Amino acid sequence: MVTLDLLVIIFSLIFGSFFNVVAIRLLKKESISYPPSHCTTCSHRLGALDLVPVFSYIFLRGRCRYCKDKISPSYPLGEGFTAVTIFIVYKEIGITPELIPALILSILLILAVLTDIREKLILDIITIPCLIILLIVRIFIGEEPFLTYLIGGLTGFVVLLLIAVISKGGMGGGDIKLYAVIGVALGPLLTIMSLVIASFFGAVVGIVLLTLKIVKRREPIAFGPFIFVGTLLAYLYGNHIWNWYSSLIF
Ligand SMILES: [Zn+2]
Repeated sequence: MVTLDLLVIIFSLIFGSFFNVVAIRLLKKESISYPPSHCTTCSHRLGALDLVPVFSYIFLRGRCRYCKDKISPSYPLGEGFTAVTIFIVYKEIGITPELIPALILSILLILAVLTDIREKLILDIITIPCLIILLIVRIFIGEEPFLTYLIGGLTGFVVLLLIAVISKGGMGGGDIKLYAVIGVALGPLLTIMSLVIASFFGAVVGIVLLTLKIVKRREPIAFGPFIFVGTLLAYLYGNHIWNWYSSLIF
């Protein structure tokens, strides 16, 4: 099992490196496959050694091997973030059919965080294909009947749409569509829990950032990272959270 764990970590680091490229290039509306990976300062094409996730960054002390310009720490951070996420999901779900929808959801959430943090955008070109694939997967895989997941998708979409209308744009279109996918993955009840947790963390962090004057009032903050936290907590630990919560109030 240790070998398998190690393989999962290595592959998810490589995937993380790919997701960085996907996020950056799709935001710039560039092709994902062309041109090959290059330094953004000197345009030198990167060799295999430069592309080893996390380690090449540490080994090269965060600088390009050719022009010595600084490489953004967002690269190794994105790689580490992907690896940690996928490893936790794989460990919690185990090698079961549910791992397939779990990984689709995780990949979407990771990409949503990577684009939302950079440009405050969650891209349809990523969300919509994930929605279609996950709907098909949910016909075959899931503890609940397909209809429950379908209702979940509608719940996520409608609730977020209502929040967007009531808050007059406090929630972006990207968030609304993302929650449709989350609904299909989680079903209606855990989707609501995910939103409650996301809003709670969003409010706490928002207040801290305002108090420390890191952001200004009315300045939008990316909600993607909070959706990420809320959704994975609800999806992986929803039952535990519910039991703990009910023991507090009953
Ligand atoms: Zn360079």
